[in-house]
Amino acid sequence: MDENDVKKLWIHCNRCYKQYVHHKETSGSRFFLLACQDIACDKCVEAAPGRSPSDAPIYICPICRCKVRGRQINNAMPYHLKSLFHPEPWLDELRNEAIAGFQRKHMNRFLKYCQEKEKEVQKVDSDMTLALTACQKLYLELEQARQIRRQLENRAQQIKQQIKNNSHIRKYLYLIKWSRYSKESSARRTC
Ligand SMILES: [Zn+2]
Ligand SMILES: [Zn+2]
Repeated sequence: MDENDVKKLWIHCNRCYKQYVHHKETSGSRFFLLACQDIACDKCVEAAPGRSPSDAPIYICPICRCKVRGRQINNAMPYHLKSLFHPEPWLDELRNEAIAGFQRKHMNRFLKYCQEKEKEVQKVDSDMTLALTACQKLYLELEQARQIRRQLENRAQQIKQQIKNNSHIRKYLYLIKWSRYSKESSARRTC
């Protein structure tokens, strides 16, 4: 972006806030200065049909809904309209309150829009931080849950082992009992 473009940053569609310097003719967008002093891009302004095809088009301003004449913003504009876009209206020979007022109005409008966008970005940013914190909390909880699960698995393993050991003992006890019983019964038989 050259220095000249920087001085035109304030020129924007008053409805969709598309900027002239980023979307001028090369990218296919056209911008119109309407007689109500609003600026609109070709996507946002409607042309109302004139009484005859040769009539200069009348536009319906998307901002104030006036039916007005308009001129495309380009080098072919008549001087009195082109001067509204002069990059340095404060130069002595051009000092003109109307031009400065026009540019100030549009600049303030655009700055206000930028501030609103900035606020939206900050909101998204803080939402992201909140979401991240929530994720970290969930992650920690998940880690704790995993540890608990591991402990429970170990405990279950120990219990299983104990049951297995117990069944050895039970079998052993049973065998002892059985052998005693068989000894006693054989002793009874021999009597
Ligand atoms: Zn627009
Ligand atoms: Zn208007």
